[in-house]
Amino acid sequence: MKDKSNKTYFEDALSEILLHAKKTGTEKISVIESSGRFLSSDIIADINIPSFDNSAMDGYAVMHDDLKNASRDFPVKLIVIDEIKAGDDFSKSKLKAGCAIRIMTGAGIPSGADSVIQVEDTFESEGNVFVSRSVSRHENIRFAGEDIQSGKKVFSMGCRIGSAELGLLVSIGLRNVEVHRRPLVKILSTGDEIADMEKSLKPGMIRNSNAYTLMSEVSKCGAVHDYLGIARDDRDEIRNKIIGGLTGDIIITSGGVSMGQYDFVREALVEAGFSIIIENIMMKPGKPLVFGVKDNILFFGLPGNPVSTMISFMEFVRPAILKMMGAIRISKPVVKAILAEPVSKKAGRRHFIRAVFFIKNGALHVSTTGPQGSGILKSMSDANCLIILPEESGDIEEGSDVDIQLIRHEEI
Ligand code: AMP
Ligand code: MG
Repeated sequence: MKDKSNKTYFEDALSEILLHAKKTGTEKISVIESSGRFLSSDIIADINIPSFDNSAMDGYAVMHDDLKNASRDFPVKLIVIDEIKAGDDFSKSKLKAGCAIRIMTGAGIPSGADSVIQVEDTFESEGNVFVSRSVSRHENIRFAGEDIQSGKKVFSMGCRIGSAELGLLVSIGLRNVEVHRRPLVKILSTGDEIADMEKSLKPGMIRNSNAYTLMSEVSKCGAVHDYLGIARDDRDEIRNKIIGGLTGDIIITSGGVSMGQYDFVREALVEAGFSIIIENIMMKPGKPLVFGVKDNILFFGLPGNPVSTMISFMEFVRPAILKMMGAIRISKPVVKAILAEPVSKKAGRRHFIRAVFFIKNGALHVSTTGPQGSGILKSMSDANCLIILPEESGDIEEGSDVDIQLIRHEEI
C-alpha cells in the first residue's frame, strides 16, 4: 500500500518482499554439516531415546520395597550380586529380593529392579551394601522413550538445526538430512568514492565497508555470498555488473539509490531486465531502498550509508533469505522496554534507533547509543537492540514503553 506521495509502508514492503521470496530446492546433506540449516520435512523417530531404561546415577539397582524401612540410624543391608557399567550388556542380569546390583550412570536397568539408590546414600562392605534411606518407585531411572518416542514427530518442517537438534538427529540414527539449499547472494558496491582494501586511499575516497558487513550478515543467515566488486557511478558499468550477478538467487547492491545526479542503480536495474516492485519506504534509516525481481531473482538496492545498509539488510533481506531457506521463524524477537531518555521524532516514518537494553530494578530499560547519523557505523557496533518507533508516533517521553528488536541475541 502506498500513501499519496507514492511511499510504501514498512509492513507492506516486507509482506511484498516475502511474497517474492520462494523456498529454494532441497538437498540431502550430512547431519554433521547441517548446523544452521532448516529442515525441509518433518522428522519422525523410528527408535526410542533413550532406547532402554537406564540409571540416572551411580549407585545400586534395587527393589524399592526392600528399602521401605531404611534410615540413617537403621540402614538396610542388601547383598551385592552383580555390577553393570555403562555399555555393558545387561540383558542377563536379574535382581532378586534382598539384593542389589551395583550400577553406573547410563547403564541398563536389570530386570527385577524398579529404582536406583545413589551411591552417596550407601556404604559397601564385604559384598553387602548398607542403604541409609528409602527410595520411591522409579527413582533415578531414565525410561526408554522419555526424551523421544518412536513413531512420534521429533522436529517439524522449517525447524532450524541448532546444537541440540543436531545432537538429537544423530541420536535417532540419522546420517543425512534434507534441507533447503543455501541461497547464493551476489554483493555489489557502487560509488566513485569507494575503494577496496588493497587499494591506497586517494583524497575523497573511502573504504568499501558495506560489502564486508553484508558478507558477514549473509553468512550469519546461513546463505552463501559472492563478491561482485565495486561499480563506478556509471549506468553501463552498474548494469553490466548486475547482469554478471544473474547466476545468484539474490543480488544486493549498496549505494546509488538516492535521488542524486549520480545515483544510477534504478535505471541500471531496469536495463538489466528487473521490474521494480518497491521503492521509497517510510522508514528511517533505509528510505531509498529499491526492491526488484527478474524471474526468481530478488534484487535489493540498499542505500549506501553503512547503518542504512545494515538495517535495511536486517529488516528485509534477512527475512527473505530465511524464508528461502525454509525457516518458519524469520524475524528477530521484539520485546517491550522502558525508554530511559526522551526521543524526538516526527510522525510519518518508522524509526529504527540504535540502542542498548539493560536491566534496572528487575525491569528491561533501553537507552539510545547517542548520535543516530546513518553514516555512524559505530552506533551499530555499540547497539544490542533497535528501538522501533511506529510511523504515527511523534516525540516519545522518558519512561514510555517502547518496542525493541533484539539484534544480537544469537551472538555472544
Ligand atoms: P549513496 O547511497 O551512494 O548516496 O551513498 C550514501 C553514503 O554512503 C555516502 O556517504 C557514501 O560514501 C557511503 N557509501 C556508499 N557505499 C559505501 C560502501 N560500500 N562502504 C561504505 N560507505 C559507503
Ligand atoms: Mg553513491
